[in-house]
Formats: sequence, C-alpha cells, structure tokens
Amino acid sequence: MNLEIEVAPGGSRAVKEVGRSSLSAGGASAALAMGPGHAPLQSDGLIGWVEGRSEGPLLLCIGGVHGNEPAGVRALESIVYRVRARRDVLTGDFVAIVGNMPALTAGRRFMAYDLNRAWTPVQVEALQSVQRTESADAAVHSIARRRAQAPVPEDLEVVRVMELLERVAARRRGPVYVLDLHTTSGKGGTFTSTEDHPRHRRFAMEVPFPLVLGLNEHLEGTLLGYLDTLGYTTMLCECGQHREPRAALRAAAAIWIALRAAGLLGDEDVPEARRAFEMLRNTCADLPRVLETVYRHPFDERDRYVTRPGFRNFDRVSAGEVIGDDRHGEVAAPKGGMLLMPLYQRLGEDGFFVVREVEGVRG
Ligand SMILES: [Zn+2]
Repeated sequence: MNLEIEVAPGGSRAVKEVGRSSLSAGGASAALAMGPGHAPLQSDGLIGWVEGRSEGPLLLCIGGVHGNEPAGVRALESIVYRVRARRDVLTGDFVAIVGNMPALTAGRRFMAYDLNRAWTPVQVEALQSVQRTESADAAVHSIARRRAQAPVPEDLEVVRVMELLERVAARRRGPVYVLDLHTTSGKGGTFTSTEDHPRHRRFAMEVPFPLVLGLNEHLEGTLLGYLDTLGYTTMLCECGQHREPRAALRAAAAIWIALRAAGLLGDEDVPEARRAFEMLRNTCADLPRVLETVYRHPFDERDRYVTRPGFRNFDRVSAGEVIGDDRHGEVAAPKGGMLLMPLYQRLGEDGFFVVREVEGVRG
C-alpha cells in the first residue's frame, strides 16, 4: 500500500491510499497499458490535479470533448495516479479534465450542440457577460439570455469547463501546454494537429504521428482555438477509431510523451515516453510527417450527407472522386490528396477533409 499526500485543487490536503504502482511492469505494452489505478471522476469533471514539488509548466490534458470518444478519458484516469507517484520529481503541474460529461455518460458526440464548436469569441463573451454585465452586442445578449433562461446540457458544460480553465489560469506556475485527446469515426485516424507556429509545431511533432496543419482554419469555435488565444501551446491528438481498444493505449502514449515534451518530467523519470514514441511511430511509419488541409466538406442535417463505405483516413483520393452522397446526389472531393476524417457517425457537420503532404515521408 502506498500512502501519499494529495493536494486538492482547493488547497486542502488529504492522505490517500493509492493503487499499486505499475512502474515496474515489464515490456512496452505492459508499461503503457491501463494500470490498476482508476481515478474516480469528480462532479466538476476534474480527473486529477497533480502539483509538482517545484514550479514550472502546466500540462492540461482533456479527454471526452466529444462524448462518444472515451479513449482519452480512460487513459487519463489510468495515468493520473502514476504521475502523482512521481510528484517529487515533477516540475510544474499536471491537470486532467473531462470535456463533455453528460455526452460521455450517454455515449453521444454531444447532447444539444458540439462542445468543440462552442468557443467562438461571441459565445465566450456571452458566457462572461452572464457573470458580469450585459453586453451591448445583440448576438452576445441573445446567447447569454438563452443560456440563463433555458440552458441545454452543453451550455452548462461550457460554464463548467470555463471554471476549470479559470482555475488553471489562476494556479499555473509557468507556461501552459494543452493536449486534447480525440478519436475518429473512420478507421486509421492517428494524427496530430496544431496552430502553424514554431512553438506549437515543436510540441505537436514530439508525438510521431502525421501532423495536419490548417484544420483550425476550417473549424470555428474549437476549444483549442480558444486556448490558443490565451497564449497556451496546444496539440490535438487523434488516437484512432472510437471503439478500437488500442485508441486508449495510444492516448496514454501521447500523454507520456507530452509530459516529457512540456518539460514536467525528465527523460530518466518517464521511461514510458521512449516506449510510447516507438509504439506510435510504428503505428503510422509509412505516412507523411506533415500535411496541410486543402478542403473541408461541410454539411448540415438537411443535406442528409452519408459517406460511402470503405474509406479510411489517409486513403489517396483524386479530384472528382465520389466520397459520399447527400440529397442533391453524389458528393465528390474537388481536390486530390489524402482523405481525412471521413464521417461514419450520425452526428457531425464535417463530411470529410482532404489533406496534402508538405514534407517527405519519414525515412
Ligand atoms: Zn472528437
């Protein structure tokens, strides 16, 4: 039995029994596997907050922004104990949170609206104007009023997540890094994405997945887009197909790598990161290292868009190739390249993306 002092986010201290350490587990898959520790989810959606002995960067990991993507949450629940066991050598702070709690419970992408499209400047201002004063902007005013009078589940989730983000901003003791863990409805969806900025690229490229640039320019209101505006260094990590058992293993691998990349743990204190790197590199060794987004196929519910069966992420497609169908007929890719995130689930507003390689295949 291990006993340790846990510092709760509010500052109170409690002595807790923690699960058996799995640091001694042998072999890459055993060491990266979900450990016996399981962090019970708190009502505020905090999976864990580990304060290191010395001040330094804060790594914020988010799982389940989409409720039908539990892999990141499972990985974070299993890792938080193992990070806590290393707090004596931890520089800075490790924070793990859940994105959309009711959707995660329901196993749905979202309940009323996509939590990963809710962070536009107007919506964020509406959130803040509820707490402060009324805004002069009519759009802000109407969103704020609806949220106050007839909130849907995501309205409350935006408030809850914002409160956690305010705690992060208030308690950070250094630069903030963010790892947002997702999975895709189509097969073969292992890639990272980030802002096209050297600081962001450096962080994202520590994970040996293809890096897709420019996705954020096609999507409005993403949580990472908002966190970028706060000056944080962010990385989106897609860990495979939603129901694929290996998705949670890849998410865990990305977390270990991010702990090292953000500077919370030195190489010698996180041997998992080296094994994680090997495992992820082998997942997609034949894919390009860096790609850019050249097309997004948006649709709304009335279009009744459906992707034709059999497409995978990174399938090569040519201009004019039919990818799906909607109420107007065939839907083709207007540009050639590689297919990204072909939609194979009911909820969503992006049918597919086309990406193109910008650097050579890694050797
Ligand atoms: Zn997602």
